[in-house]
Amino acid sequence: MRPFKNEPFTDFSQAANRRAMEQAIRKVERQLGREYPIAVGGREIRLPEKFESVSPLDPSRVVGIFQQADAAQARQAVEVAAGAFRDWRFLAPEKRARCLFKIANILRRRKFELAAWMVFEVGKSWPEADGDVAQAIDFCNFYGREAIRYGAPQPIGQAPGEKDEFIYIPLGVGAVIPPWNFPLAILTGMTAASLAAGNTVVLKPSSDSPAIGYYLFEIAREAGLPAGVLNFVTGSGAVAGEALVEHPRTRFVAFTGSKDVGIRISEAAGRLAPGQVWIKRVILEMGGKDAIVVASDADLDDAVAGVVVSAFGYQGQKCSACSRAIVVADVYDEFLARLLARVEAIKVGPPTVQENFMGPVVNEAALNRILRYIEIGKGEGRLLTGGNQLPRKGFYIEPTVIADVAPNAVIAQEEIFGPVLAVIKARDYYHALEIANSTVYGLTGSVYTRDREKINLAKEIFHVGNLCINRRCTGILVDANPLGGFNLSGTDSKSGGRDYLLHFLQAKSIAEKLQAGNYPAGKRRASKSPTRKARTSRIRRPRPRRKRAVARR
Ligand code: NAD
Repeated sequence: MRPFKNEPFTDFSQAANRRAMEQAIRKVERQLGREYPIAVGGREIRLPEKFESVSPLDPSRVVGIFQQADAAQARQAVEVAAGAFRDWRFLAPEKRARCLFKIANILRRRKFELAAWMVFEVGKSWPEADGDVAQAIDFCNFYGREAIRYGAPQPIGQAPGEKDEFIYIPLGVGAVIPPWNFPLAILTGMTAASLAAGNTVVLKPSSDSPAIGYYLFEIAREAGLPAGVLNFVTGSGAVAGEALVEHPRTRFVAFTGSKDVGIRISEAAGRLAPGQVWIKRVILEMGGKDAIVVASDADLDDAVAGVVVSAFGYQGQKCSACSRAIVVADVYDEFLARLLARVEAIKVGPPTVQENFMGPVVNEAALNRILRYIEIGKGEGRLLTGGNQLPRKGFYIEPTVIADVAPNAVIAQEEIFGPVLAVIKARDYYHALEIANSTVYGLTGSVYTRDREKINLAKEIFHVGNLCINRRCTGILVDANPLGGFNLSGTDSKSGGRDYLLHFLQAKSIAEKLQAGNYPAGKRRASKSPTRKARTSRIRRPRPRRKRAVARR
């Protein structure tokens, strides 16, 4: 197996790639408005209640019609996933990995089409959508390799007279609950990690991006994932999502989303349901109020470029987005002047057109929330540029900068999740880092400085899960930049990193007393994975009890 390598981004300066993307956009446009089923145990199901996913480019355009699953249907999906777990857990990690590698290959083959779906369903620009697909491919290729690594014999000490082993086994059924803002990458990442580790999944995508979620399900099926291992359920988070979290047979919840929903899930998963025989594992990746600190010795053009791309890339709708620029007093005015020139040059418009750097925000509720924060911000600071909704179809907002904001202002403390940047003046570099640390979050952050001592100070005291130095605070690469936040940004799971799969596994320590004839001296073999043992076992195992019942349903 080749070592892991990140998927390259598509070079849209090449005419052939531009043509491929334009064709994909036209193709997907013709497919808008289809109806999609939920899929439980290999059965596609249509329900009486439906909802529509509409395009933020033009809300009169329906991207797709989806089934509104209720709590009972969500619970049934958990039961089916629990049945499928009986077989899937014993499949060799290499075979599970192969399945993920196949998914990665299909994602690559369909990358333009999947990117085009993101253009229409969540308003991503071409490079943002392409980066989203590339990250999804990376997650499959990376976690597949990680499953094999964790499935191999693990280093462990040996007590005298014993053969000691340490093996990782899967947890059970996972409820995978992703957000809409990386509708393919995060959804694929949490699903791929669950499956790679030998768990089965009920996936409930965000109601703002269910079409993209469906395509991942379809691709996994094409890659040969057995029925019931991945189940796809659409519906409201508060109803279907909560039912998945509360089900006694749900063993873990992999959630990425807002702080408030994450906390609610943490509380719900912490309550023991009747019949539940474990403490549920919760992997929560939540919001951010990320800052870029600009020191007096920084390369100002570099710093401005980093702030602009981090604050306004994908309309500021990233957990890692820069929503505070904290600038040391000496260079504050110069920074603002250069920032203004760059922000005013940003092109906003439909992301079906390659030239537009910013598209619409995801939905009407987001539009109204962001406009409300802008009004609050106008009272808390000085509006430097932007501040308005654009007079056209769709949910477009100007890139907005509010200067002279106090560190404890509402727009400096709360996650806005839109194209709004608060600029804060700090007395000096240390003060800037103190301000950076003064929210309840701790996800990403950058410092721009050429001074090694200042860099070292940031490493010591800037309390974020992902610290960036002289670069933007967005743009996370699998394997190189494991992502996960401190404090109320989440459980610091470090997705895309070498610790991540551990959250989806439990470890079993095995101590076997050596007996004469059992392991003759000098012949103590490395242990094999339980899966391999199971395949060569002479002991008859009962067939999974629920399997036939599921097939009949
Ligand atoms: P959200 O919290 O509104 O929704 C996330 C998911 O939770 C959706 O699928 C939703 O249907 C579901 N949900 C809602 N209520 C639920 C409930 N009571 N029980 C179970 N599920 C429920 O978040 P969003 O608007 O989709 O995404 C934006 C948020 O995600 C931002 O706060 C952003 O910072 C965060 N985010 C964090 C990361 C990270 O890695 N830390 C990455 C991306 C996004």
